[in-house]
Amino acid sequence: MSQRILLVEDEPKIAALVRDYLENARFAVHHLARGEGAADIAVSWPADLVLLDLMLPGEDGLSVCRRIRERSTVPVIMLTAKVEEIDRILGLELGADDYICKPFSPREVVARVRAQLRRAAVATASGLEAASGLRLDAAFHRASLGDAALELTPVEFRLLRALAAVPGAVLSRQQLMDAAYDDHRVVSERTMDSHLKNLRRKIEDAGQRSGDASVPTVEGVYGVGYRLALP
Ligand code: CA
Repeated sequence: MSQRILLVEDEPKIAALVRDYLENARFAVHHLARGEGAADIAVSWPADLVLLDLMLPGEDGLSVCRRIRERSTVPVIMLTAKVEEIDRILGLELGADDYICKPFSPREVVARVRAQLRRAAVATASGLEAASGLRLDAAFHRASLGDAALELTPVEFRLLRALAAVPGAVLSRQQLMDAAYDDHRVVSERTMDSHLKNLRRKIEDAGQRSGDASVPTVEGVYGVGYRLALP
């Protein structure tokens, strides 16, 4: 499953160039040319990383970054045309993870994106494992709970990965569907419910096998969706 990059950039040539390089590097890219609505999409799509231009029509990059940070820890890389702006970006403590000055080489952008994604994956994984014993290996689609391996289908793995990225937060069935399928396939709510039920049962079984009674649980939240509740 491709990692998802939200690119918010109003200059069409720069946006097209960055998009090409990211797509060649097998990332899924969603491009917005304006700032408003970008924070919502970053959270609901959800993006694995946001490349955010500073000067944008509508809502500027500083405000978008602040809004993303209120709701998500997704890595944010700011793009800026002026060196003087860097002090502002860092000084405001917006919570941006990195910045890149224009003009930049698109190769450099891809390298920085990869570096931030690696960092985020390590941070999320170690926090999750410490809190729940759950370990996800996205590169090999493998998951385990304590010492017990979780034998998951690809769809179950993707669902668990989406839920584990935001422990405790509720994801709607639509968000889970987007996470589970790359092809925007529409499946029934009942199908999603049964995948999630199977996932819950496999986690419970793995907990019993590893002799651990306090395991994370996949909880349905009536009328809203599902969340991963940590023990
Ligand atoms: Ca701009």
